[in-house]
Amino acid sequence: MTDTSLHDEVIEVARDLIRCDTTNAREPGLGNETLCAEYLAGYLRGFGVEVEVVAREPHRANLVARLPGSDAGAESLAFVGHTDVVPCDPRDWTHPPFEAVVDDDGWLWGRGAVDMKNEVAARAVAMAELARSGFRPRGDLWFVAVADEEDGFADVGMRWLLEERPDVRPTHSVNEGGGERLPLSDGREVVCYSIGEKGTLPVQVTAVGEAGHASVPTLGRNAVPLLARLLPRLGDGLPEPTTAPEATAMLRALLGRDEPDLVAALAEAETLYDGLGDTIRSLMGSTLAPTMLWGSNKRNVMPARATAEVDIRIVPGTTHADVEGRVRSLLGDDIPYELTWPEAMVEASSSPVEGVVPAAIAAFLEAEGDSATLLPTLCTGFTDSNFLRAAGGTHAYGFSPFRTTPNSVLESGYHNANERVHVDDLLLSTRFHIDLARRVLG
Ligand SMILES: [Zn+2]
Repeated sequence: MTDTSLHDEVIEVARDLIRCDTTNAREPGLGNETLCAEYLAGYLRGFGVEVEVVAREPHRANLVARLPGSDAGAESLAFVGHTDVVPCDPRDWTHPPFEAVVDDDGWLWGRGAVDMKNEVAARAVAMAELARSGFRPRGDLWFVAVADEEDGFADVGMRWLLEERPDVRPTHSVNEGGGERLPLSDGREVVCYSIGEKGTLPVQVTAVGEAGHASVPTLGRNAVPLLARLLPRLGDGLPEPTTAPEATAMLRALLGRDEPDLVAALAEAETLYDGLGDTIRSLMGSTLAPTMLWGSNKRNVMPARATAEVDIRIVPGTTHADVEGRVRSLLGDDIPYELTWPEAMVEASSSPVEGVVPAAIAAFLEAEGDSATLLPTLCTGFTDSNFLRAAGGTHAYGFSPFRTTPNSVLESGYHNANERVHVDDLLLSTRFHIDLARRVLG
């Protein structure tokens, strides 16, 4: 098929997907990802792809599609995506969020245009094109488009699907979480691919004093000023520079060398792109950010306890003891306090910086004459790649290339109004996924 007809096809699929309102929030009746699952099943079935609609709840179905491999022992690859989107308020939008308008400059507007019906469409069309061109993969090629990624509370998406379907254990996968292009101050460009996600372990720090009537401030031992003395001890919340492997790999890719002076390396990264130094430093260990506060619930009562909840993001390999040790050493022992852990730890997870998928991404860029530097990154948020790594040790990455859509447009539309993508990037991503399958499974 020509690039022109492939381009028309992926634009049409992306628009059809955006027009399915699959808003996901913790309200009954929302989700409706079955609209997308049935649509994709109907689309792919026509090209001889094996398709199944797999649902825990009828209106919240997942799509599992496969081009079977010729060699049962060969490594397999999965194209992964989610079909739900976050809520939006149409009043804030230039074009209605579920009408999938393509304007005269080639921008496709709509909820999900970058997160991530664009990628789902590109992966679906790549799968279709591979099937109808007679591609016979050595190992299985999967396409898994799941419900309920944005909220996850209903547990009808990837976590449930992998438990329900122990046959879905791809060796490699590619999902959301990368592909953006950053212009560096030295004239180079970097293209990011995601190798993993940070985890979380929030803590509540409670200063402990003694209650008293506020009319005489020296009565008792007011916990509020005690907490106010404790919190600055957390500093700027960034970890001390260390040689954590993910951060080291980022610095090596950016600087083109191993710089032993980590402070100098981070400063150089910061001059290359605003904010990149702190982003990399935040991958060198746990970050601590106090976000919620509780004191007295009566103005005239000085409380015996005052609490701050601290958002803590952890890197792969971090243990509960690591986090607790760091928090306690920062807080010191001269002010009495208690630590409580409001949520269980969500472990960080990552895949190797180098491997089959990263090599295929590099080869695609090179074949395109694209001289950008590939930059491995760790997401601070959560994606379904986490479940794939946990269930079957999948080498799970985030990548879909963008060339025409600037990073500023991606960032401003992400979970926000006026989400949009340039249609040329839909074709670029489709071509990338066709190339990826041929390189990995051909
Ligand atoms: Zn997403």
